[in-house]
Amino acid sequence: MIDTLRAGMGIKLRKAHACGENRWEVLDAEQRAKIRCMHCGHILHMDMEKLKKACKQILHETGV
Ligand SMILES: [Zn+2]
Repeated sequence: MIDTLRAGMGIKLRKAHACGENRWEVLDAEQRAKIRCMHCGHILHMDMEKLKKACKQILHETGV
């Protein structure tokens, strides 16, 4: 499990999005997190605790 997620981070989730991508950008790192799919731009809201568990890897610390 990932400890800290911050806005601007690129992350890889365990499960791929419907479009086949599993890399996401963290837009909001609040308790209710917001992430954007790097392939199709889809925005997803997810509880931070859930997101941390779903996160497999941190790709980069800040914006692309
Ligand atoms: Zn997508």
